Formats: sequence, C-alpha cells, structure tokens
Amino acid sequence: MARSLPPKNPPRGPIIDPFGRRIHYVRMSVTDRCNFRCVYCMPEEGVEFTQRDELMTFEEIEQLGRVLSEMGVDRIRLTGGEPTVRRDIIELVRRLGSLPMLNDLAMTTNGWNLAKIGPDLKAAGLTRVNISIDTLDRQRFIDLARVDRLDDVLAGIEAVVAMDWLPLKLNVVVCDGMNEDEVATFVDRFAHLPVTIRFIEYMPFGESRFELVPWSRTRARLEERYTLVPAAGPDGSGPANYWSVAGTAVVVGAIGALSRQFCEACNRVRITSDGRLKNCLAYEPQMVSLRDVMRSGGTDDDLEVAIRAAILRKPLAHITGEDMSNPFEGEMIQIGG
Ligand code: SF4
Repeated sequence: MARSLPPKNPPRGPIIDPFGRRIHYVRMSVTDRCNFRCVYCMPEEGVEFTQRDELMTFEEIEQLGRVLSEMGVDRIRLTGGEPTVRRDIIELVRRLGSLPMLNDLAMTTNGWNLAKIGPDLKAAGLTRVNISIDTLDRQRFIDLARVDRLDDVLAGIEAVVAMDWLPLKLNVVVCDGMNEDEVATFVDRFAHLPVTIRFIEYMPFGESRFELVPWSRTRARLEERYTLVPAAGPDGSGPANYWSVAGTAVVVGAIGALSRQFCEACNRVRITSDGRLKNCLAYEPQMVSLRDVMRSGGTDDDLEVAIRAAILRKPLAHITGEDMSNPFEGEMIQIGG
C-alpha cells in the first residue's frame, strides 16, 4: 500500500470542516479495554468498560471504513484501549486492509504481544505500528503501567525492527517527576536501531495528574548529551517535528499539544469503540453515534450524511493551557489518544 497524498476527488467528495481543513485521517478505537493500567490514561478507580454488544462489530467497522475511504479518508489508525486485546484483531486488519482507497492502515499499541502476532498483522495488511513505551526501568514500568511487561514490550520493538516493518515510532509520554530524567536514556538504548522516538507532552483528561514538561525542557535534556539536527519526519509523520540525533540511527520527535499547539493543521477525527464520532481529542459534546445509524438499517448514504453533519461541529482548536487549565474532556482509555 504505497502512501500518497489524500485523493483529490474521492467518489463521495472530500470531508472539509467548518474551517476549510481537509479531514482525511481517522483514529478508530476498536476497544476500550487494555491489559495495562497506565497512570496517565486509566484512572486509579478504573473505568466502566463498554459492554461487548455495544462495541461496533467487524461488519460495522468495515462499512464505516468503506464509506470514510470513499469520502477521501486515506489513513486509518487502529487504537484502543489496547487494540490487540480485541479478539480476532488480525481478521479485522485483513478486512480494513482490503479497502481499495486506504493508503495507510496503522496501529498504536503497547507492544505486549507484537513479537508473537506482529508477522500476522503485517501479512494481513497493517502498514505500520507505533509502540507506546514510557520507561526503560523495570520498577518504574510497574509503577507507571501497573503491570510487569517491560521485557515483552522490548521484545516487540526488536521483532518489528527485525521484520524491517518500518518506519517504527516509539511514543513516550513525558511525565513530570516520573520519567523526565530518562529522555536521553531512550536515545542511548535505541541508538543502533532505525527508530523514531517521539516525546509527547502529557495531556490532562479530567483532573490533571502531572505538571507539564514542555518540549523545550525535554530538548534541553537531550542536548546535554546529543546534537539534534532538524530532519524531515518519517512517512505519516502527523503533528510532530523531527530531529536526527547525530552519531546515532535515531530520529527524535516532539508532540507538544500544549506548548506547541498544532490545531490549525488538524486533519483528523476519532471514532470511539462504540461508534461515536469525536471531532476533537479535547471535547465530547453531543457525539453522533454512527453505530446507531448502521443498527437502525442506515445505508452508506445515511452514514455519509451523518458524518458530514457531525463534522460541522468540529472546533477550531483546544483551549487547554500549559497550566493544565481547561483539561480535555473524557477518558484517554476510551479514546485511544
Ligand atoms: S486538539 Fe482537537 S483540533 Fe487540535 S489537533 Fe487535536 S483533534 Fe485537532
């Protein structure tokens, strides 16, 4: 699946939001369940998981994927919770991977079982993966993710590189007082591998659990040990900016949603695992249920109408401050980032 620019004249016409932005990237959550319990994602008290019969079925996800691709959506990223805990995820990838107009079918995963199912996911049509990993210290991993699975995640990373399944991006959420002191250690650890390490500013969902570590601070820590050279991002580079790290095979990226807001170039919407269209990561007002359109016998045309109507409510930008004021609405675990 060669990646290219979004199709100019998709059969149903492109999706343009109220601010003239072309929406051609959908982050689709296929479950809100996860086998990790990351402290910045899953509240201490847990969340009430969506009942199985409320989750979109494979047929519904496939219908939605087909209609979206006919509306010029050329990139779909599968998210969770943790997408690989959804039963028969390889079959779902096969179905979406066969959509003719999709240029890029990617996944964000915590990598726990990639060493095992990675080859099947790739063979089924998954273009690439991003792996979330926030620490290289085993005890800190247990404290952050509340599970003891660092070795599995590292094995997943090695397996993806060994399969030459590139570009591979590692997503590191930098949490104040938690893993900020490890940013250069990540470069040390993977210096020999052609990976892209993206340092992501923590985004507060509901009450904030950490102070912001702005990219400028992370960069300063990296530059204590390394020389950063501005670089083009890997394919599908999204909102991040990139630098190659001199003397290593590594590229680092910065996703500064709070200190380096990138909303004016927003090209995405999200679909929750129970089929609601979420226009913006930061807000949850009146989400339209596309699942209910399908379950009430809605045709592809009805879906298109519902999607266009929903996107008319897409906001220009989030208003969350670097002081964590106006936090994002909802729970990250149910959105998948
Ligand atoms: S915060 Fe909302 S508007 Fe900004 S980039 Fe994310 S989804 Fe787009």
